[in-house]
Amino acid sequence: MAHDARSAPHFRLVALVGNPNSGKTTLFNALTGLRQKVGNYPGVTVERKEGRLRMPEGPDATLLDLPGTYSLTAGSPDEQIATEILLGTAHHTPAPDIVICVVDASHLERNLYLVSQIIDHGIPTVIALNMVDIAERSGIRIDVRVLARDLGVPVVPTIASRGEGIRELTAALSGVRRVADAPSNRWRLPAPVERETDELAGILEDVHNIAPAHARHEAISLLTAESALLDRMDRFSPEVIAHVRRDHAKLDFLGIDRRSVFVESRYTWIKSVCMEAMARNPAAGMSLSDRIDAVVTHRVWGVVIFLALMAIVFQAMFSWAQLPMEMIREGFDWLGARTASAMPPGDLRDLIVHGGIAGVAAVVAFLPQILFLFLFLGLLEDTGYMARAAFIMGRVMSRVGLHGKSFIPLLGSFACAIPGIMATRTIDNPRDRLATMLVAPLVSCSARLPVYALMIATVIPPLKILGVLSLPGLTMLSMYLLGLVMALFMAWIFKKTFLRGGHPSFIIELPPYTIPSLRSTLMLMWERAWLFLKRAGTIILGASILLWFLASYPKLDGGTPSEKLNHSFVGTAGRVVEPLIRPLGFDWRIGIGLITSLVQREVFVSTMATIYDVGAGEHSEGGLPEKLRESKDPLTGANSFTPLTGICIMVYYVLAMQCFSTVAIMRRETNGWKWPMFQVAYMTALAYGVTFIVFRIGTAIAAGGGA
Ligand code: GDP
Ligand code: MG
Repeated sequence: MAHDARSAPHFRLVALVGNPNSGKTTLFNALTGLRQKVGNYPGVTVERKEGRLRMPEGPDATLLDLPGTYSLTAGSPDEQIATEILLGTAHHTPAPDIVICVVDASHLERNLYLVSQIIDHGIPTVIALNMVDIAERSGIRIDVRVLARDLGVPVVPTIASRGEGIRELTAALSGVRRVADAPSNRWRLPAPVERETDELAGILEDVHNIAPAHARHEAISLLTAESALLDRMDRFSPEVIAHVRRDHAKLDFLGIDRRSVFVESRYTWIKSVCMEAMARNPAAGMSLSDRIDAVVTHRVWGVVIFLALMAIVFQAMFSWAQLPMEMIREGFDWLGARTASAMPPGDLRDLIVHGGIAGVAAVVAFLPQILFLFLFLGLLEDTGYMARAAFIMGRVMSRVGLHGKSFIPLLGSFACAIPGIMATRTIDNPRDRLATMLVAPLVSCSARLPVYALMIATVIPPLKILGVLSLPGLTMLSMYLLGLVMALFMAWIFKKTFLRGGHPSFIIELPPYTIPSLRSTLMLMWERAWLFLKRAGTIILGASILLWFLASYPKLDGGTPSEKLNHSFVGTAGRVVEPLIRPLGFDWRIGIGLITSLVQREVFVSTMATIYDVGAGEHSEGGLPEKLRESKDPLTGANSFTPLTGICIMVYYVLAMQCFSTVAIMRRETNGWKWPMFQVAYMTALAYGVTFIVFRIGTAIAAGGGA
């Protein structure tokens, strides 16, 4: 070629790039003789690591270890540093003369994404095909010559951890021409996209004097950009922006998804390169893990399997938790009876038995179900399945305009919205982060579980469907799905309106499947159980005692227990809120539960226990679900808890905020009251609206069925 500088390559600056965990630091140490700490870059603070690289001929060069990155378009701060240095736009570091791209041979396809982007930029590159030992062990053999031919750059197999291939690597560096060939656009776009990209790249070269290799990259990012954001790109002249706008309209008209077409075309090419260069050991065939993944991450089967697994989890949760729940209930009954017989009758005894013990017992009874849920989720996570679920969900997330990374905080929110909201700190785009925080509390946390479980035990008969699925399990699953779907739906709305922008792309590492560690799962369960019991022993106990007072005073001499309750503070307050919640099919006693559980959702359950215990007087037999089921409206004589009421209560709790701690954490994470207030407002409106609709439809169906 024209610029053959083969004779005297003097590289001053050499950079090591590659995906996280591809072995960059190990290779850095092997090349420089330094001992940098091997491991991932911690967080955002990226220290610069450089060392001296002895070249076989000529003076030494400086070797730079860059943070790991999956692509040149990735957004997190350390990934941006890597990109800026590579493209020569960083402030304190000049562009490297040559790049060693470290590729994990056991994940060739994923690693080639970054490689192909770097090659596109015309940056002189040598590939260190690292971890070939691991690849070989899992039955993957890569034909280095074919790979080098297809990519158009030298490829050197290495085992960095054993120092193998290091000499060959430095030799290859010396062999690279100082100026790389212009990239030959090895990957193809659909014809109309290719045409517009070429044309736009040409315009950028002419108008803005951008080098051909970079012009294509700029053209692609302009074509991928949100149309609404074009105005802010004042780096480009108005004519260029106007041209881009027309291109957007053209491609949109053709039904081409501008956001994905470039990524997909690149991957198509990468796949074909892998096909040619990779020979799987015929004896090993497809590894078991790959074969499992082909099914569980399938577009259709993946979702079916995910739902089926969840159905089994909820199913098992109900049937296995039955016995321990019964034992806890009997334990508390015994405690209540012993306390009652050991103390003289009076207010103090009533307070302890009907206030404290009844309230706490009602909530603690659901501990086994919570533990089973976390046992199953913990096991699924440990085996590596949850990463696959996140992969499937990542596709859905990018449909609603969120980054796939957002699924991890949402997954955390199944335990509690607070760790979920804190986990959004890993999301780099502030709008995506806010959208994720705003919807995280819609995901059903473990505090909802007692409410769902109580309502299901009260109104959903334990019928079997198709012989295997139980109606209670399915109802519980539906509530969890409702929360998840609503979270995605609201995120989609937010991203369509006031949180527009951002280009979600999603790459997630699929870790190998492993046998779950029972120890770590048990630790997780213990942690959950302890948190739950602590809350039962403090907030729930306090709230129950307070509620007992409010439900017992002012006292009415004579009268039935339920007349006394009516006369109490609780009764009065209930009558005040009743008109507000009548449209949802809720009576005043449920209304009291809605108010007290503003603090925390489980308080609803203890509130029901206390109110119905006080209302029932001395002779309260049977569990709380039976009491609720048998309770009648004193005026109409109708059942207080019909199946429709139960469902409406659950739907309300799926969607309503009802948690002071979440509001507090939102204030802290967003530095102000604006977003927590907005969140409380939209969730309350959503809960009220949807519950109202469900109640209406349910009433109409019941009337239709009765007629
Ligand atoms: P980085 O994140 O890209 O800097 O990767 P590291 O250099 O920290 O390496 C990640 C892990 O892979 C470490 O445990 C290394 O010991 C290991 N490793 C690196 N190169 C190889 C290799 O060629 N073969 C094997 N088996 N392990 C390697
Ligand atoms: Mg490293």
